[in-house]
Amino acid sequence: MINSIKQLDRETFERIFGNEEQCLKVLAEQKWGNGFRCRKCGHTNYCQGRSPYSRRCTRCKYEESACAFTIFHRCRIPLTLGFRILYDVCRDETISTYKLAQEYNLRQMTCWRFKKNIVECLEELKREHRTEASE
Ligand SMILES: [Zn+2]
Repeated sequence: MINSIKQLDRETFERIFGNEEQCLKVLAEQKWGNGFRCRKCGHTNYCQGRSPYSRRCTRCKYEESACAFTIFHRCRIPLTLGFRILYDVCRDETISTYKLAQEYNLRQMTCWRFKKNIVECLEELKREHRTEASE
């Protein structure tokens, strides 16, 4: 997902990630695109959960939101903002968190924490890529 976000121009990006619901949809597709599997019991049948795009296991009733276990997990900022920051960081990893805070009217600490998650995720992708390439 991150690699493809990076390639979008700003207009396309804003069309795809324009509102909270669209963001959740992308996260859900990303996570469960290859099928649902319950993290608690391994069951593969689900029904719609309480929040948009969340899924609930029909066996153990465990419910998982579209954000859970993604970089937006426990992220306190609105998803649309989160995706914007993700977009900015993907395009320029050295972007300052002061600048982000100012631009999106957030606390610098919030941006710093979130950026840290994104950068870790990017590093992991690079590592995976290297492993694939060396095989
Ligand atoms: Zn389950």
